[in-house]
Amino acid sequence: MTLPGTAIAALALPLDNSFASLPPSFYTRLMPTPLPAPYLVGLSAPAARLIGLDPAAVNEDTVAMFAGSRVPERAQPLAAVYSGHQFGVWAGQLGDGRAMLLGDVATPQGPMELQWKGAGMTPYSRMGDGRAVLRSSIREFLCSEAMHALGVPTTRALSVAGSDQGVVRETIETAAVVIRMAPTFIRFGSFEHWFYRNDEASLRILADYVIDRFYPALRDEDNPYAALLEEVTRRTARLIAQWQAVGFMHGVMNTDNMSILGQTLDYGPFGFMEAFDAQHICNHSDSQGRYSYAMQPQIGHWNCYALAQALVPLIGEVEETQAALDVYQPEFGAAVDRLLHAKLGLTQIPEQQEADRQLLDGLFGILQDSHADFTLFFRRLAGVQAASNAGDEPLRDLFIDRPAFDAWAERYRARLRAEASDDAARKAAMNAVNPKYVLRNYLAQQAIEKAQHKDFSEVERLLAILQRPFDEQPEHERYAALPPDWASALEVSCSS
Ligand code: AMP
Ligand code: MG
Repeated sequence: MTLPGTAIAALALPLDNSFASLPPSFYTRLMPTPLPAPYLVGLSAPAARLIGLDPAAVNEDTVAMFAGSRVPERAQPLAAVYSGHQFGVWAGQLGDGRAMLLGDVATPQGPMELQWKGAGMTPYSRMGDGRAVLRSSIREFLCSEAMHALGVPTTRALSVAGSDQGVVRETIETAAVVIRMAPTFIRFGSFEHWFYRNDEASLRILADYVIDRFYPALRDEDNPYAALLEEVTRRTARLIAQWQAVGFMHGVMNTDNMSILGQTLDYGPFGFMEAFDAQHICNHSDSQGRYSYAMQPQIGHWNCYALAQALVPLIGEVEETQAALDVYQPEFGAAVDRLLHAKLGLTQIPEQQEADRQLLDGLFGILQDSHADFTLFFRRLAGVQAASNAGDEPLRDLFIDRPAFDAWAERYRARLRAEASDDAARKAAMNAVNPKYVLRNYLAQQAIEKAQHKDFSEVERLLAILQRPFDEQPEHERYAALPPDWASALEVSCSS
């Protein structure tokens, strides 16, 4: 595994330190706390290649770097400060309690920041130990790369490194470090931080940094800050539409977990919808269901409102702020409509708008009543034929209420005929948007349990499958199956 000379190459990552150019009050410089005897748990080859790291050249020194036990030469590690609303309540200062920025690397997609998550305590750790456990690190690693492959905007994950060092949660677990990548990890809460401190100068510095670096076109707008709010609101609306369409539930949509780039950020107690229930709550700690599947769109809007409030001092006018926020509903509605039409293999036709709304309402009604598996439903829907029910059987099997399904399927067929839909072409198009493979909780759990016994093969296999979620991969059929009975007892909480 060790190739001479590659240690230097890996550790000499061509890092810049853009974020560190902000005033010192935005962060604390510090070094990660090394973990003893780190080992490689998972590596995303595409993510590695993106930052110019040859996956084949990963060696002991690279793994030590992944674990935060070695620091690349040009890194200027820092933990950033931010605040936020947690579960709807102002929580005051939070900050990177266990994440540390290494710096940013130029890539074909623009600069990518690299961040260790779980690399030790920072001034913002509060009651935490600065660590992350293997279980939650594997979940974040797999889901980041799975979401990317699904075409959902997200932070990426490069690696997971583990160590036998114990970490106390409900039981004693072991430590791990994920390296995450994103153009920036600035959150809504980064802005709220300066607003609640009445520090308009710092607020402006942050907004100018974000505009100049990530939204340069907005600089020419009459009010760049209003334009920033509007663009972030649009991206957030579109992001959440994509979550709904793929059945992703974030679990902790606090404002400190909302990316200013409109990417999925911070994978904790997330889940993918299985037996459909619009009220499903994936986070066991969320007793009120604030972040249930059905609530996500509304919460996305609420979070944009929190960002808007923080930006009022820069935007200047409440009316303009309100106008920027008002784009949320139409943007979300249009995005969901587009995505659902694609999932059903339908063309958006103005004359069919009202009928399609009823068709979709009817669909979510029967999914809910039968608790049909969300991913399998849309994947199997591609097998329906416009002319007859000959292809219905695999889909029909997912329903308890078969007559309700049959009635809906007839309406769907009529709608397909109304646009003279071609079965083969539609199937190909639908299979390109309805994934066969998603990160079901029980699949993650199986990979985690093996990894806890030092067998990382399932992490690798699952990652490879999830990197091609739309491909049939017949050799991996069982990864697309309904979850086993024991899966319903799995609980994921904020403990990570
Ligand atoms: P989260 O809900 O995971 O987004 O975390 C909320 C806040 O708690 C952030 O400021 C995290 O950095 C911090 N935090 C979570 N877990 C830990 C930990 N084990 N040690 C230190 N800080 C943590
Ligand atoms: Mg967070």
